[in-house]
Amino acid sequence: MGRLFAVEIVYRGIFQKTLAKHISRAIVLAAHREGKPGISFGRYGDSPERNGIPAKAFAIVATDDITLEEGMAKYEPKEVDVSINLDDTMCKGVESWAWYGLQPINKLVKPNGTLIVTSREEPEKLIDMCHRKETPYKLAIVKGIPSFSGLWVFKDDHTDVRVLGAIARVLPELFSIESLKQMILDDGENPLKATSAQRSYDRLQTVTVKPNQGNPEKPYEFELLKWTEMRDGISIPSIAQGHTMTDPVTGKTGGFQPERNATFKKFSTRTMRPVVNFDTCIKCTLCWLQCPDSCFDVTPEGLYDANMASCCGCGVCEAVCPVPNCVTMVNEIGFSDNDSQWEMWRKDKEGYGTWLKDKIESHPVRSHGFRYRGQYEEQVPEALAAAEGD
Ligand code: SF4
Ligand code: SF4
Repeated sequence: MGRLFAVEIVYRGIFQKTLAKHISRAIVLAAHREGKPGISFGRYGDSPERNGIPAKAFAIVATDDITLEEGMAKYEPKEVDVSINLDDTMCKGVESWAWYGLQPINKLVKPNGTLIVTSREEPEKLIDMCHRKETPYKLAIVKGIPSFSGLWVFKDDHTDVRVLGAIARVLPELFSIESLKQMILDDGENPLKATSAQRSYDRLQTVTVKPNQGNPEKPYEFELLKWTEMRDGISIPSIAQGHTMTDPVTGKTGGFQPERNATFKKFSTRTMRPVVNFDTCIKCTLCWLQCPDSCFDVTPEGLYDANMASCCGCGVCEAVCPVPNCVTMVNEIGFSDNDSQWEMWRKDKEGYGTWLKDKIESHPVRSHGFRYRGQYEEQVPEALAAAEGD
């Protein structure tokens, strides 16, 4: 029996789909240069891929055909040598498939395996976000802005080859940096991409994460009904009725909070979230009307509070708000809770103003979204410069 290698690539649906496909395909091609057979595949057939919702691709490689066949007899790997997280905000966990709650980003990483994250953050920050594991693992950061584009657009900022260079460094048994560079050139890519792969390989640093390090919280989970417990026939219950809201200061009730999906929370599906300046809101209702996920709770005084259990971070509310800087999308890396902004504002308006300013100013870079055709191409030189400076 030979050796089986498994790599998972966790990415933001649609925005990073092509990037993930490039990486998983290249892993197989680079390993193939060394005579190792492999296969790459996406894992979303049971959960349609949507904007920003975490999704996965896998690359499975073996030292021989029989071992590969044996490995592929499973639906998907139960553990991986390397897990790649293409957006650092997913260090909080992923809820890509609604049947088990929140999955820690490092869940499949085998003991002493490696989690590779594309991020501008320092290891300590990312370790604090990742849930604790019982066994140690290594964290490697490919320094730079997480790369986002769209379904039909690929932002060729070398993130793909930089991640591949990192894999060659942490798992040289899978493929060497020389095989990787040769594969890049044979694939007809710009020779600069081979240089980027080498630079990433040379500069990569890893830290060991011990079992007592990381987020101590138990990831949110729930039990699904067993088939023996289900009712006869098919019936889809309608959404339960909503209810009024209570002002945390005066106790006054009013407004409306819709009832929401009791199991599928979208905490981890966002890569950015809206923050609202309630002092400048003119109560025009546009954010509430236009939000595709019905996120906004209507407060007793007629303000609109984006509920973080529902928000997927699409940015529509920011785009439709007619008041300048009233709604601002902020990178999700800046938040460690999902508390109601309106409640914070009601309890301490001055403190909320300081909080709001700090969140916006300390995270000026949007995670995704472009405002005109060609904007991504304009961002590539900036991303390459950031990569060169790592
Ligand atoms: S970003 Fe705004 S519009 Fe989009 S889901 Fe969240 S609250 Fe709704
Ligand atoms: S769109 Fe802006 S101004 Fe209008 S209700 Fe929403 S936050 Fe207030």
